[in-house]
Amino acid sequence: MTVTANLGFPRLGVRRELKWALERAWRSGDHAELRAVAAELRARHWKLQVDRGIERVPVGDFSLYDHMLDAAVALGAVPQRFGTDGFDVLTDEGLERYFLMARGGDVGGVAVTPLEMTKWFDTNYHQLVPELRPDQPFRAHPARLVSELEEAHGAGVPARVALVGPITFLARSKRTDGGDPIELVDALVAAQVELVDALRAAGAPAFCFDESLLVTDLSPTARAAFPEAYARIREAAGDAEVTVAASFGALGPNLDVAMGLPVDFVHIDLVRGPGRLDEVMAARPEGLGLSLGVVDGRNIWRSDLDPVIDTVRRAVERLGPEQVQVAPSCSLLHLPVDLSAEDAMDPRLRSWLAFATERLDELRIIAAVVDGDEGSVAAELADNRAAAASRRSSTRVHDPAVGARVAAITPAMARRHSPYATRARRQHDELALPVFPTTTIGSFPQTPEIRRLRKRHRDGDIDRATYDAELRAAIADTVAFQERLGLDVLVHGEFERTDMVEYFGDRLEGFATTVNGWVQSYGSRGVKPPIIFGDIRRPSPMTVEWITYAASLTNKPMKAMLTGPVTILQWSFVRDDQPEAITANQVALALRDEVDDLVAAGIRIIQIDEPALREGLPLRAADRAAYLDWATEAFRLSAGSAPDEVQVHTHMCYADFGDIIDAIVDLDADVISMEASRSAMELLDDFVARDYPNEIGPGIWDIHSPRVPDDAELDALLTRAVERFGAERLWVNPDCGLKTRGWEETTASLEHLVAAAHRARSRLR
Ligand code: GLN
Ligand code: ZN
Repeated sequence: MTVTANLGFPRLGVRRELKWALERAWRSGDHAELRAVAAELRARHWKLQVDRGIERVPVGDFSLYDHMLDAAVALGAVPQRFGTDGFDVLTDEGLERYFLMARGGDVGGVAVTPLEMTKWFDTNYHQLVPELRPDQPFRAHPARLVSELEEAHGAGVPARVALVGPITFLARSKRTDGGDPIELVDALVAAQVELVDALRAAGAPAFCFDESLLVTDLSPTARAAFPEAYARIREAAGDAEVTVAASFGALGPNLDVAMGLPVDFVHIDLVRGPGRLDEVMAARPEGLGLSLGVVDGRNIWRSDLDPVIDTVRRAVERLGPEQVQVAPSCSLLHLPVDLSAEDAMDPRLRSWLAFATERLDELRIIAAVVDGDEGSVAAELADNRAAAASRRSSTRVHDPAVGARVAAITPAMARRHSPYATRARRQHDELALPVFPTTTIGSFPQTPEIRRLRKRHRDGDIDRATYDAELRAAIADTVAFQERLGLDVLVHGEFERTDMVEYFGDRLEGFATTVNGWVQSYGSRGVKPPIIFGDIRRPSPMTVEWITYAASLTNKPMKAMLTGPVTILQWSFVRDDQPEAITANQVALALRDEVDDLVAAGIRIIQIDEPALREGLPLRAADRAAYLDWATEAFRLSAGSAPDEVQVHTHMCYADFGDIIDAIVDLDADVISMEASRSAMELLDDFVARDYPNEIGPGIWDIHSPRVPDDAELDALLTRAVERFGAERLWVNPDCGLKTRGWEETTASLEHLVAAAHRARSRLR
């Protein structure tokens, strides 16, 4: 009988119960209710998996904040600023420390910074980054895992303990001295072995170690560390089943490493590495089982089950049923919980989708058919076939006019009319800006009143005219505010947008939005990505009305704000039936139309934000050039029709440009703004080294904290920027949008920022 396995389940709950419980606990300091909600969610999610016949149900995948943080705590990898000893989150004191590591805080009047965050592989989930000293001691703290295992056993759950594998854990941590964390593998595995011992003693029948590092370019030290680490874990696990899971891509050049591991099963991702089954089966040593990741844990499209069933059958014929498990491609953490919560969605579209719960149904159907019990799932299989056929032929998906337009894209469309030097002259004549022009990144504080206004409009409590009038009032206030402050390039404030991607998704055909489709981003935070299901068209202008109203209130240049095509793709669920490059170009053409309309309405500066350009970078170096090619082309296509005298800006939210600097140059934006203050302008080195030819606005105010920057630090940052980059092409701006800030600190900080630009101007004279 084919065994069905799962690698992880979403934690927040279908109504984000965990989020609300966490936020209540953080406010009140009372953890009892949070623990009860968490236990209820675990029990509910286990039951839902058991009801679908899942035979390896993950235990330990649940987290009150993040699984890398959990792993660090379970292995005693706690930086000294949080107290020297490891701790146990089952105690209230331990849980407080756990949240301190996650969120930072105040200890005896001293500010304690949390662990850094980084994206988990190429997902939009943020892990915390454990900090390891060169002499880092590790020690197992198994109490939480043991207690969850006991809970699961009590509920009759066929448990498999889900842990971050030691090599992946180390590679996704950082060493405080900058050294290679893999060097700590001996001590780490010793603690991992203690953990396994404790879980074995508590009756754990199976373990699954996430070693998704195996789908990336392995360093020689990482490669060399695998065999020994797993020999020790294998021994500790005794007769428990041991699986090593590699998600988010194909094993590629690491196939030999994975196939040499002394474990029972290796899990492979056949969604992201399709067609790789044969090579894996050929390399597999006798006796090693394969867990086949055949349904997508990253995207929401319902599986086309017939080809999947063929694949699994092929593996079963070759390996025998004992040696094959079927599973999602990766943990279901990256999917919303349950499609049945989307009762407002168009039923046709809904029939094409599968969230986490529906993925488990797919596994059940696959296993039944492969085991020869097709009769029991005949109706579901027929329904699956009908849905696949309806999606393939739907006119809501395929719009020939859009296809023709994409086919007619020429290279010239993705280039501005003249090179930057010519454009810059025209723009300077047109805009007549001073040196060190001051501006902001787009959004202004999203106060509770603004949020309430949008919600009242969404809920139909106020009519369109009232909504418009109130938004216009907010815009007018913000324009007047910026004039008072003496900013040079103004913005309208983005008050009409809840989210920079959803706003455009709501206004484009081919997009759908969900009501409960939340996916965890980090801790209590979720995002609700729109779904790109069909060819994209812009039925009417999306931003022109607000921008032109704002522009009418001032003689200063008004900068229009758009979200770029790469970011729109990256933060949506993207269709899987055509290359991403084509979808990106469709979005780019819609944005290009918006650019044309803005220009026709007299707008002379347009910012196209691409904060997600870098995070779309493929995990493997060999795949990066192809991605950057289509990504930069899509950006240039969206901006390409802007006449020379119209200044195109872009914005990115990070400071780490080394590996994409050529692509940044390739975007050919007239001005780029980005984060720089925290890295004290070091990022400019990348731009200087590359002779970055266009204008640049390294953020001098770090908006991620409520702190108001003082004159001395702004002067120092600006001076450093001038030393590195010269004065000619520098802009003065904060490092990101202000939507999360309050008006008070915004006012003070922008006053300081404008004054700093004035001082920099007078230093030039
Ligand atoms: N224009 C957006 C804003 O100001 C940019 C946000 C972002 O970079 N994530 O909010
Ligand atoms: Zn930003």
